Amino acid sequence: YAVRDDVLDLPEMSEVDVVRHFTRMSTWNAAVDFGLYPLGSCTMKYNPKINERMARLPGFAQAHPMQPEALSQGFLELAHTLERHLAEVSGMDRVSLQPAAGAQGELAGIMMIRAYHEKRGEKRTKVLIPDTAHGTNPASAALNSYECVEIPSGPDGILHPDAVAAAMSDDVAAIMITNPNTLGLFEKHIARISEIVHAGGGLVYGDGANLNATLGIARPGDLGIDVMHFNLHKTFSTPHGGGGPGSGPVGVKNVLAPYLPVPLIARDETADGPRFRLDWDLPRSIGKLHGYFGNVGMFVRAYTYLRSLGPDGLRRCAEMAVLNANYVLARLRDAYHVPYDEPVMHECVLSDRKLEETGVTTLDIAKRLIDYGYHPPTTYFPLIVHGALMIEPTESESLEGLDRFVDTLLAIEREARENPELVTGAPQR
Ligand SMILES: *Cc1c(COP(=O)(O)O)cnc(C)c1O
Repeated sequence: YAVRDDVLDLPEMSEVDVVRHFTRMSTWNAAVDFGLYPLGSCTMKYNPKINERMARLPGFAQAHPMQPEALSQGFLELAHTLERHLAEVSGMDRVSLQPAAGAQGELAGIMMIRAYHEKRGEKRTKVLIPDTAHGTNPASAALNSYECVEIPSGPDGILHPDAVAAAMSDDVAAIMITNPNTLGLFEKHIARISEIVHAGGGLVYGDGANLNATLGIARPGDLGIDVMHFNLHKTFSTPHGGGGPGSGPVGVKNVLAPYLPVPLIARDETADGPRFRLDWDLPRSIGKLHGYFGNVGMFVRAYTYLRSLGPDGLRRCAEMAVLNANYVLARLRDAYHVPYDEPVMHECVLSDRKLEETGVTTLDIAKRLIDYGYHPPTTYFPLIVHGALMIEPTESESLEGLDRFVDTLLAIEREARENPELVTGAPQR
């Protein structure tokens, strides 16, 4: 036998020392349960604890993915209902919960667009993408062998029909639009832009990452979007990042339904009431994207969130998110440069331009915020704003919490003028 004859030199620790070590380290994390998490475009809203309680119900938490459908009726009904709710909120016809994140939802969406054009015998090679887009948009298009054509935003930070019309041709498979866009601005011309792309035989992909701003108010499906993804870990309060996994359901209009990933969840009416089953019979499907059903625990959390808010609560959540972002912008407008000074939706974008003569940059401001105990906002994105500082407070924050955060940014601006080394030397603690 391969028996070791000397003792392995492992550190010997008591249980209490190990527990204290890891518990102490866990308090060094930045988390939404410790404070404001203003990462723009990420919608780091509070994750309600009722979601966690529901996801831990033994019927969900201990279900085995290979147990027979007859024993999974509760889960299948929940998933089917969540699909219907997401379709209702977005104005889409069908939804698949499979994709593991927004990026995979985009990938699925562009694969469906490609399959649609191929079925029609069309060889389209280009996808139009605004210059404010998130990097996953061109990545999803490129992974489907499309050439990405950048569409410049207007001086007001949004897309204009003329720019889209100028780029439109028989080669264009689709346009990918984020609404509101990553400057936090509502794409006012989206309906007209959708018409232009549809008239040219293309389809419209909606990046739903910013859906939080329009919940219960405007539906992508009513604005001409043919296919979109949802980020359950953004809009629907399921945990993010280290607390993940994510979930990025994809929704389509009926024209793209034949290409959805398999399996779909079917509902049959029987004498004993509704029965749910997996439906693999979709000959033109783009295939399977994820093991088993997708990230199931996230479905339970998102479903709980939707049911606990209800339609009025969802709308209120968008209204509060928009109010909070505009409040932050109004209080910071004089101290920080605002590249596109328009009323915003759920987030606002500032820059370091006014501080140029002090030598303080966006990166310094972000690090100084950490000294004050804040997770920094998104920095240097969107790419069209030099030194961007992108703040998304979400609806979760109280007025007092927002004021504390804004006061801190104002204090950092004063430091930058009076004592810039404090800021350029951050972190100081
Ligand atoms: C977050 C985000 C994505 C990608 O979503 P993931 O869930 O992180 O993969 C795409 N577009 C925008 C605008 C985003 O903010």
